[in-house]
Amino acid sequence: MALKLPIYMDNHATTPVDPRVLEGMLPYFTHRFGNAASRNHVFGWDAEEGVDRAREQIAALINGDPKEMVFTSGATESDNLALKGVAEMYRDKGDHIITSVIEHKAVLDTCKRLEKWGCRVTYLPVDDMGLVHPDQVAEAITDRTILVSVMYANNEIGTIQPIAEIGALCHQQGVLFHTDATQGFGKIPIDVHAMNIDLLSCSAHKIYGPKGVGALWVRKRGPRVRLAPQMDGGGHERGMRSGTLNVPGIVGFGKAAELCGAEMEEEARWLTYLRDRLRQGIMGQLDEVFLNGHPKKRLSGNLNLSFAYVEGESLLMGLKDVALSSGSACTSASLEPSYVLKALGVGEDLAHSSIRYGLGRFNTEEEVDYASKRTVETVNRLREMSPLYELAKEGVDLKSVAWVVD
Ligand SMILES: *Cc1c(COP(=O)(O)O)cnc(C)c1O
Repeated sequence: MALKLPIYMDNHATTPVDPRVLEGMLPYFTHRFGNAASRNHVFGWDAEEGVDRAREQIAALINGDPKEMVFTSGATESDNLALKGVAEMYRDKGDHIITSVIEHKAVLDTCKRLEKWGCRVTYLPVDDMGLVHPDQVAEAITDRTILVSVMYANNEIGTIQPIAEIGALCHQQGVLFHTDATQGFGKIPIDVHAMNIDLLSCSAHKIYGPKGVGALWVRKRGPRVRLAPQMDGGGHERGMRSGTLNVPGIVGFGKAAELCGAEMEEEARWLTYLRDRLRQGIMGQLDEVFLNGHPKKRLSGNLNLSFAYVEGESLLMGLKDVALSSGSACTSASLEPSYVLKALGVGEDLAHSSIRYGLGRFNTEEEVDYASKRTVETVNRLREMSPLYELAKEGVDLKSVAWVVD
């Protein structure tokens, strides 16, 4: 098959809608357009049936009860609802929340808001592979702690956290446990009971479903989790999230979840193969390339590399026909190195030289080979222009050089 450019390799940011998902959604834009809350006619029942099937499909992927799914506009909203909803509802019990420094901004910025509202938040560090240590969670729990929130898999480095261990110790201590599972959901197995999860956030557009639809799974018993709704209105979703349901989106989310469930193992094997081929193709040809994150406990589609002596942004510019992400976040004024890589102890320079390859369902061997070839060419070209790289090659210890700044 001929290689088609540009190539999409940014599947942690979003994924294309699987054609099988789109096909399932289409009738709900046209003749099945009803409002799932309309109880008096067949249009409403028809829409509700589609939503109920989606609840089952999504719940099945995490061994939850379909009645425990609360549909939202995406994982950002799910994270907000979980954290703010618990903080407000359990205010009499306590005001302390534990999370990690490498959470998605949807969790971190919500925690910042909760601090403004008077909560106390502990941000746990991670080790140099990006792992949260359960014993540190245990140490941080006090009699004021109401919630622990640790993500299942990280969106930058793909590191998979010891969620089952953290969940077990939360339950021993009677503390609720939320996980932002947006990156792990549909890609690695999840069992909310075996893992003692109380609240779980997920999103359709990271698993080949449509954008703008997600869910929060909320445990109904053992313990029953209560949430203060953050959206007031018609009392949809058992009162936890008012607003007319996005029926086509939810139907697509359900179909996407079903496909992930059926194809997860095979897909993970394939993506691991592609990812290792990409890694070999690059690291076999270039020196001073470093893997960020855990070598084994990571998402199969994730490869995060730092290329010493090369600016990640320049590398991306040189790799224009491959869609990738760099470890620098463009804020309005400056290029900030990724806070996730910083938390791992990756130096500023290497953080700025990092690239995230996010492989997904529709990537091919040809695309991987093209991406690795182009990466090697571009890094070589940029390093040829780098005086620092030349000095280093000549054996000069760059740390010993006295830099003069005029
Ligand atoms: C993408 C992502 C989110 C945000 O999800 P949306 O559905 O886009 O709001 C939250 N957490 C993680 C880990 C993500 O990867």
